[in-house]
Amino acid sequence: MTRNYIKKRAEAWIRELIELAREMEYKGRYDLERRYVSLALEISRHYKVKIQNKRYICKNCKIILIPGRNAEVRIKKGRVNLKCLRCGNIKRFVI
Ligand SMILES: [Zn+2]
Repeated sequence: MTRNYIKKRAEAWIRELIELAREMEYKGRYDLERRYVSLALEISRHYKVKIQNKRYICKNCKIILIPGRNAEVRIKKGRVNLKCLRCGNIKRFVI
């Protein structure tokens, strides 16, 4: 097993966990959602692989941010403010 292979596996694993977490968000199973997101973040740290669309994860309460559902989007001067409606945490990024 090469290092590259392990990284690829870790990436796929993270993708799966994020997908599951999103599903749990829609199902209202926030306990499981948090567990999946925490696990994805842990794997990302451990194997040093990136999480795609990490900006849509609230690191504070470990949920998937879905605009119109649990997040609010505001655009100010070319910057996006993404607010988590569950904990009030605001993330800012450039489009
Ligand atoms: Zn939050």
